[in-house]
This record gives sequence, C-alpha cells and structure tokens, in this order.
Amino acid sequence: MSDTAAPAWNAEKARAELAPGALFIGGQWVEATSGAQRAIIDPATGKQICTVPDAGAADIERATLAARRAFDDGSWATMNPRDRGRILLRAADLLRQKAAAFAAVESLDVGKPITFTTLVDIPTAIDLFEYYGALASGIEGAARSTRIPAMAYTRREPIGVVAAITPFNFPMILSTSKIAPALAAGNTIVHKPAEETPLSALLLAQVLQEAGVPDGVYNVVTGGAPAGEALLRDPRVDKIAFTGSTQVARIVARTAAETLKKLTIEAGGKAANIIFADADIPAAIGTAIKAFVFNTGQFCMAGTRLLVERPVYEDVLAALAGACPHIPIGDPFAASTVIGPMAGLRHRDKVQGYLDAAKKDGVRVLGGNGTLPAGAGCFVSPVILADVAQNSRYVQEEIFGPVLTVQPFDTEDEAVALANGTPYGLAAGLQTGNVARAHRVAARLHAGIVWVNGWAMLDVAMPFGGCKQSGYGRETGPEGLDEYLQTKSVIVSLA
Ligand code: NAD
Repeated sequence: MSDTAAPAWNAEKARAELAPGALFIGGQWVEATSGAQRAIIDPATGKQICTVPDAGAADIERATLAARRAFDDGSWATMNPRDRGRILLRAADLLRQKAAAFAAVESLDVGKPITFTTLVDIPTAIDLFEYYGALASGIEGAARSTRIPAMAYTRREPIGVVAAITPFNFPMILSTSKIAPALAAGNTIVHKPAEETPLSALLLAQVLQEAGVPDGVYNVVTGGAPAGEALLRDPRVDKIAFTGSTQVARIVARTAAETLKKLTIEAGGKAANIIFADADIPAAIGTAIKAFVFNTGQFCMAGTRLLVERPVYEDVLAALAGACPHIPIGDPFAASTVIGPMAGLRHRDKVQGYLDAAKKDGVRVLGGNGTLPAGAGCFVSPVILADVAQNSRYVQEEIFGPVLTVQPFDTEDEAVALANGTPYGLAAGLQTGNVARAHRVAARLHAGIVWVNGWAMLDVAMPFGGCKQSGYGRETGPEGLDEYLQTKSVIVSLA
C-alpha cells in the first residue's frame, strides 16, 4: 500500500470532526437525564477522546417514546417506499462527501488502520444506503388467486420500532447493515452503539437528519448493558436487531421473549479455514494471514482455526511463523499500518489471558509474543498456537484477537468434522485447486457463509448470518430487508 493511499489525518484532526457528545432523540441533541457521562478512550494512546452520556432507563424511555410516536403518526411508515429510498440515497451522497471524516473518526474510536476505514468500513456503509435505497422501490405485496369470492392481496409493512444494539468492532458497517434496511422498510429506530465505540453513530445521526429522515425516526442512545437491557424490556419496541457476543445474545433472546419481540441475532464465531494440499500454497498462506489478523482479529468471521492437510502442514506453519513478525503494527493513522491496537484494554487483557494460559498448558507457540509493551496502547502482535487439540479452549472459544490455532488433518471427512466441531457456525472457508472438492466441502460446512480460495469476500448483495450458536436471521442482501418487513393479508369480499 503506498503512503499516498490514505489521507493525512491524525487523532487531533479526527477529534475536530466529532458530532455533539449527547443523546440524539426526536431530532434533538439532549443530555442524559441523570447527567451521567462515560469517557471514550483512544485505544492507540490510552488518552480520553471525549465523553458521551451514559443513558439510563429514563433516557431509553424518552427515546422509545420518540420512535413510537414517529412510527405511529404514519408519515414515515406509510410514505411511498420510493420516497424513503430517495432519502437513503441522499444519505449515501452525504456520507460520500464526508467519507474522509467518518473514516478518521472510526479509526480514532476503534483503533482501526485508516487505510481500512477509508477503503472498507465507510465505502461499505455508503454501499448499504445505496443498495437499500434502490431496493426500497421493490417493496410491494402481490395479488393472489383464491377459491373464495374475494379480491385478496398481501401488503409488505414495516414492523414498528426497531432497537438496534451493535458491537464495538465494526461500528459503521454493523450499524448501517441494520439502519439502512430498517429505514427502507419504514420502521423507526432506537440505536444503542457499543459503549466503547459510539462516535460514528452520532456522526451518522447528523447525516440522516440532513438527508431528510424525519425527527424521531432515527434516535441514538449511548450507554452500556443497562441501556441495552432497558431496550430489551421496553414494550414500545417491536423488534431487536442485535450483533454481539453469544453470551449477551442469550440474554437478548431470553429478555425479548417476555414481550415476544421479533429478533435477528448475529453472534460470535470461530471460523475454520481449511488448506488442502492441492491449493496454491503461497496464495493460501497469504489468505490465512489476512483471515486472522484483519481488524486485529476482532472480526466475527475471522479465520481463527486453520486446518492444514498433513503433507503441507509443517511448511505452512513455518511460513506463517516467519511472516507474522513482519506485519506492520502500530499507529492507526499511518498509511502502512496493517494491525492497529485492540479496541480497548478489556479486549487486550482477554487475549493475553488466553496466551498466558497457552504457555502454561505447554502449547507450541509461534509468531509473536502477544501484548506489546507499547506505552498505554492496546497492541497485541499476531500469535500462532500449533498442534492444539480439537477439544481445547483455544479451538472451542472465541478469543477475538490476532490468535490462530493450527491443526493437521489427513482426509476430507476429517477436515469437515474438525471444521464443524465447535458450537459456532458463522463463516468457514477452504483453499483448494479442485473444483469438485470446493463445492462438495462448501455444501458440508455448517456456516452461514463459505469462501473458496479467499477470505472475507463480502458484498452488500449477499446475505450473511449464522448457523448454530452464531445466531439467526440474515443481514445484507434482499434477505436483510425481509427481516424488517411483515406481511399482511387483505381479503375484500366480492360477494
Ligand atoms: P457484546 O455482546 O459485549 O456487546 C454487544 C452490544 O450489546 C453492545 O452494544 C453492548 O453494550 C450490548 N450489551 C451488553 N450487555 C447487554 C445486555 N445485558 N443487554 C443488552 N445489551 C447488552 O459484544 P462486543 O464485545 O461489543 O462485540 C464482540 C462480539 O460480537 C464477538 O462475540 C463477535 O463475534 C460478535 N460479532 C458478531 C458479528 C456477526 O455478524 N455475527 C459481527 C460482529 C461482532
């Protein structure tokens, strides 16, 4: 990547772009009722960026009331979908104009390399508004022929008030993958971004307001688990769109069951990447590295379990171990950086806990040493844990950092069994030169998305979501719009 690929931003310049540190409710910027504030920390330096309100139950009630009123007054929900689509397209245009500032704020808040926020995170968010802005015009029911004497047709209607609860690792992408289809369908939204990384959601509120989204249709509440739980319990909320850990997903499903809210749940992952000996091995090694270090391993679809066919096992391991120390790690605002800091100390310490345990357990550790003594920043170098047992915690649990387990296999059946042998089922991949094997194995992997000869090939037109304990429902693609619509039958007597 050339040094000119990314704009010359730095933390100070990014800070000048921040939206108000306030709640956005009913089209107004307001303080938390209690006055409570939460510090937002730059994970690259440990310095405070700003503070935002720590919303409590009273604030959640204010926000859900605003969203409920905006839905019930009907002006958004019953607007012609093409007109809603036009507003989303305007939002996409505004986002494009402000893309550099959004990328800088996302890098500051999450520690993501600016090259990636510039080339991946913000363009994907723009793509989502354009995709669902266009798809809105296709929201329509159908006339049905019936045996009863009636004119019968279906209507595709919004669900109501959607609470979007999003995680820290891809704030813009995982917010807009809910917000764009939910708005296209005519719902109103209360969005609770992750407590550590709320800054792009606040900027987005400004863009949506400027694009013409009516007051109360999109609301943002900053806060942690108590704010999230208040949303789960709130009777004014009709649907929860959640992305986060499997542990919290269980709380979401249990609590939302009390009022039978509709749910989409995108939860944890532990994706297997299988390298067959017939693959283009140098390309497969490059893919394997990208698959586990992208976003410092804080990626639900990271390829964190590498399965390698025995004849090439030791060669692949040696190449991976040799490559890890050369991956540029450091300042998110440096154009050459590939690995930024982890998004916060709690994430870094969790990863380090696994690495300390691995050393104690006598695991064969290759690559880097884990946490880097780089001042107050949350930096972790990539680490490989080789020859690990399938039932070990390193293989079974989501570590959510740049840590790769590597295991050998002898047959295709064994590779599939190992790949499917965890509670998760979000993503999987295989590297092979054999086309028949590619399709055969893709069909047998228990995952919502399977990549062949590559990793993280994603497009807003393709759905993603989980099997097993990775969740249910799908985001992106036409399926992602269906999650925000419900079907009504209208039957008019012709007798
Ligand atoms: P998390 O589960 O800790 O938090 C996610 C969101 O839930 C945050 O907004 C948080 O404040 C909120 N929350 C926490 N406790 C809550 C509660 N009791 N009630 C209601 N809301 C609550 O997850 P995280 O650490 O922010 O994100 C990392 C996790 O997200 C990983 O497990 C990762 O695999 C998963 N993830 C999944 C996908 C996917 O598409 N499947 C995508 C990205 C991340």
